[in-house]
Amino acid sequence: MAVPKITVDYGKCTDPLSCTFCMNHCPYSVFIVGETRVYKFRETPLEEFRVYGRYYDRCDGCNVCVQGCPKQAISVTF
Ligand code: SF4
Ligand code: SF4
Repeated sequence: MAVPKITVDYGKCTDPLSCTFCMNHCPYSVFIVGETRVYKFRETPLEEFRVYGRYYDRCDGCNVCVQGCPKQAISVTF
């Protein structure tokens, strides 16, 4: 089976911790959110959190994330 390419436009998805739609609705829990950098001795700024398709090999291309993302930030191609 082809491996999907899942991309997130971070110019559109700027606050994944408040949205979480893709993380909560993907039937295969493909998405996770993580810090882009680790800050010592202070909190990570909100803009440093990004969602990404970590477990892309589970994706079956259902497009739930693409169609449901309120920012139209996700694309999934095979
Ligand atoms: S297309 Fe479907 S299976 Fe693939 S990441 Fe999006 S919601 Fe998950
Ligand atoms: S559904 Fe879209 S806006 Fe919401 S966290 Fe996922 S990529 Fe970001």
